[in-house]
Amino acid sequence: MRLIRTIAELETVPGTGLVPTLGALHDGHRALFRAARAENARVVASLFVNPAQFDEPTDLEAYPRDEERDLEIAASEGVDAVFAPELDELYPAGFATWVEPDDTGAEGAARPGHFRGVATVCLKLFNLIGPERAYFGQKDAQQVAVIRQLVRDLNVPVEIRVVPTVRDPDGLALSSRNVHLSPDERRRALALPRALHEAMASADPAAAVRASLNGLEPEYVEVLDLGDAKVLAAAIRVGSTRLIDNVLLEGELT
Ligand code: AMP
Repeated sequence: MRLIRTIAELETVPGTGLVPTLGALHDGHRALFRAARAENARVVASLFVNPAQFDEPTDLEAYPRDEERDLEIAASEGVDAVFAPELDELYPAGFATWVEPDDTGAEGAARPGHFRGVATVCLKLFNLIGPERAYFGQKDAQQVAVIRQLVRDLNVPVEIRVVPTVRDPDGLALSSRNVHLSPDERRRALALPRALHEAMASADPAAAVRASLNGLEPEYVEVLDLGDAKVLAAAIRVGSTRLIDNVLLEGELT
């Protein structure tokens, strides 16, 4: 597996599948690598904690980083190359152009500037790596919608693939931020996937989630129309850790 630090070392190879990540890899990322490995001649993963998509400085600072372990995980899943640039490789002095998605509500409203950071770095990665396909997780369903919109609006020649959310056996969606949860917080966090799953069959799913969150105050609970699919999505804070999750209500996100 090649480790690439600079743009100069990158080459555009036909038949490439790209998996963009922030690192701190877990089994959710492994599922994306496997999906990419299954249908591309070459798989590239990016590891880059993109400051532009963090709306809280403390979240950025506390974001888990373990590059050595990430490289082992990527290699063990058959990733051919990892692009792990330094900050100023992607945002050199004088950087001044951003991709600004229109107001997206939910995550977009709760985290000002988040999707601007995501869309900008993803477009840069698409331009630099030239993948035929790029892989994203259903866990960040709104992110998928933002990226699909970007690809349509800006005519980016890449196919966007979605991989179902990978969960721990107790139902909690895997997230790099789960390492911040104390055992008690982790137990309380289970109310989120439970409430979402129980509310799926309800006539008013958002209200049903609010009613069964066991005292956890949601930042939002919304049914999001993502074009091909409707998802029931929510964000909560458990202690100082912010968690998001969603379940599919209608359609397909693939
Ligand atoms: P992140 O490193 O958290 O930005 O995630 C990188 C990619 O992995 C994104 O497309 C996420 O949606 C996806 N991802 C994160 N957690 C999961 C999960 N539990 N299951 C499936 N995909 C995930």
